[in-house]
Amino acid sequence: MITRSNDNPAPDPEPDDADTWLDDAFPLGDGVADDSSEVYCPYCGEPNEIGLDPGSGPHQEYVEDCQVCCQPWQLVVQYLPDGSAHVTVTAADGE
Ligand SMILES: [Zn+2]
Repeated sequence: MITRSNDNPAPDPEPDDADTWLDDAFPLGDGVADDSSEVYCPYCGEPNEIGLDPGSGPHQEYVEDCQVCCQPWQLVVQYLPDGSAHVTVTAADGE
């Protein structure tokens, strides 16, 4: 059984065109898109190694909890043309 939290809507897990998107977006590399990144928690300041999903598109926004203090982050992931990921993390409870 799969349960989902309303607080954390998941994007389509496996878009059919994921492979096509990767080929178009990163023509210079063979699967070199970053699949992990280190970010610093806006709450406790601790570094967290997070997993990324290049197949979900060049611009992604989602909520993830800090692995250290369990506070919710708003994550914004943007892939650059060379396949590197630019990750921005902000506090998600400020609304
Ligand atoms: Zn934290």
